Amino acid sequence: MTTQSAAISEIFSSLQGEGTHLGERHLFLRFEACHIHCEYCDELGKVGHDFDLLSVMESLKRLNRERGPHAYVSLTGGEPLLYHSFLKVLLPAMKEEGFRAYLETNGILWQALEQVIEWVDVVAMDVKPRSVTKERSFLREHRQFLCLARSRETFIKMVCSKEIDLSEFKELCEMIRRTSARTPLLLQPLSSDAEGHEDPELMRLLGELQSIGLAILEDVRIVPRLHKILGIR
Ligand code: SF4
Repeated sequence: MTTQSAAISEIFSSLQGEGTHLGERHLFLRFEACHIHCEYCDELGKVGHDFDLLSVMESLKRLNRERGPHAYVSLTGGEPLLYHSFLKVLLPAMKEEGFRAYLETNGILWQALEQVIEWVDVVAMDVKPRSVTKERSFLREHRQFLCLARSRETFIKMVCSKEIDLSEFKELCEMIRRTSARTPLLLQPLSSDAEGHEDPELMRLLGELQSIGLAILEDVRIVPRLHKILGIR
């Protein structure tokens, strides 16, 4: 990765399948690499190719002409903020062409966010319970990240499985309340199969998590992944 190029695995037009902008038409720019390994990840292993600024901008403009208009360009991954040097040239170029930036991120690399947040319109930030990811806790990093992100339109997504630890869930909700209490928290079930059918037991647990969350936060929603249900990319 350089300031002028980045490993990108896909550029395409589709519906936004997650979060508060569910159902909008977005352009997606999928960056290849991630720095952590969530146990449930279905994105790692998608091989990227080196794209320079010109070729990314040409692809975005062509897709927007053919399939647009699009509400946002979703920067997704992998972890887009690993490519912050490239984003520092890409995001201003996107703005010049009238594109709005929607950053999908694991909510950990706050130092990188600091460098690009002035060009970001929406932050779709993950908060990751270690009981679900089997990674380490990122509580401290998530707090710093949310402190910066709250200056933009932001929502938090938490992927939940039956293995979620309730005391860890409460601790994460308390962190959100202390940092940015009004930021919506979206609970997303970890789909039990490729078609996105949910396990009834997990859906009951999500209802319980929502009740626990609403005792701490103003806005806690349960939002499944639309693109899995519709069977689209
Ligand atoms: S942060 Fe996202 S891309 Fe990275 S391992 Fe976890 S689910 Fe996969």
